[in-house]
Amino acid sequence: MVRVMECWKTSSELRKYVFDSLDEMESKPYYRKGQNFLINASIIKFQVDQANITPLDTVLEIGGGVGNLTKCLVNKAKFVYVIESDSKFAGFLSDKFSSSSNVEVIRGDAVKVEFPTFTKCVSNLPYQISSPITFKLLGKKFDFAVLMFQKEFAQRFFAKVGSKDYSRLTVMMNLKSECQYLKTVKPSSFYPSPKIESAIVSMKRKEKTITDLKSDFDDFITLIFSHKKKILRSTIANLLKRKGHIELRNKVVNSLPYLERRIFTLTLEELVDLYKFIRAKIGEDLWSDIFSLNTR
Ligand code: SAM
Repeated sequence: MVRVMECWKTSSELRKYVFDSLDEMESKPYYRKGQNFLINASIIKFQVDQANITPLDTVLEIGGGVGNLTKCLVNKAKFVYVIESDSKFAGFLSDKFSSSSNVEVIRGDAVKVEFPTFTKCVSNLPYQISSPITFKLLGKKFDFAVLMFQKEFAQRFFAKVGSKDYSRLTVMMNLKSECQYLKTVKPSSFYPSPKIESAIVSMKRKEKTITDLKSDFDDFITLIFSHKKKILRSTIANLLKRKGHIELRNKVVNSLPYLERRIFTLTLEELVDLYKFIRAKIGEDLWSDIFSLNTR
């Protein structure tokens, strides 16, 4: 296996690589494309160390940029897939790693392209796609991820039940992964510096909960959290009414647990409990008619 080079020893070496690469491409970073490159060597080292990459790992990197993080992943993993949507950067990455047999550059929008099979994901995400990428990752099978988000976005994973930030994102993240807030990262660690702080978060898949719950739990959460400030009784009653199940509405609604609670005050366990209760009460066929997003 070809090893490209050692990871960054100093931040000045890393900064020089980033600036030289941008010069070579005659390109400047665009804010709207989420092009903020890490120029702090200790942050890259931290991310790579946290991922604990072994020669058995296939790593996915979303948003390769100039390959400043990719280089460190390539040195440790069996294989690295790098997704990059900007064709100038994707071309640059392909050239840079052309002699490495363990790198494949995927040119395309990470929200739309099919993810390859991977064991770990290490990425400084373009912040404008944080939400769709997080949900996409939660639907994939992998061992561990170390991801950089906008700090404010990352804090939503850890939002308290009943707080304004408690959302579908919080529920799904905690249902499907053990997530940990690892580190706050200052704007000066990037070029160009963003206006806000960032945060590194790790995600470890909770295999057992995922296999215990049917995948339509996701649809159920999406539906009821689109009315998250509403009282559970009226949310469920409206869903049943909209689908023409008036009789069922009278039968189900009054027997619901947590009847008078607002959706965003329900804990993960209570939501699972509620899902199982309604599913058992109305049966499989009606369930998919009312709660499956595919049939809407
Ligand atoms: N990996 C580099 C680093 O760690 O410094 C660059 C990270 S930079 C925050 C995000 C990168 O994602 C940019 O190179 C940008 O062009 C790319 N990008 C933006 N939107 C994307 C998308 N939808 N799909 C894939 N890559 C995207």
